[in-house]
Amino acid sequence: MKELVAHRCTKCGLIMYPQHGRCLRCKEREFEPIEAKGDAELITYSDNQTLPWGIDDRQRFLGIVEFENGVKAMGWLKVAAPKLGMKLKARWEPVRVIDGEDVYGLVLR
Ligand SMILES: [Zn+2]
Repeated sequence: MKELVAHRCTKCGLIMYPQHGRCLRCKEREFEPIEAKGDAELITYSDNQTLPWGIDDRQRFLGIVEFENGVKAMGWLKVAAPKLGMKLKARWEPVRVIDGEDVYGLVLR
């Protein structure tokens, strides 16, 4: 997935997304970009029934996925019946509206 770029610590190799000022494991400050590649595997999810303003849905699943190269990210899990381990495709799509403008986020299906 070209547009999703995580950051790999140059000292210990920990991959973080989004980026942090210091490595969460070793406190290093140097990182190299790493693009999320391949399909995403669902590693956990939650069922959210209290959603913020700008989202008209009454319920959404929020999922955390791991791509084939180890990048992990969170997104709107747009499937009827989530199952841990299922393979998903990730894309940027509008996920809510703020001040009349679409706000894009990661959508997993
Ligand atoms: Zn590190």
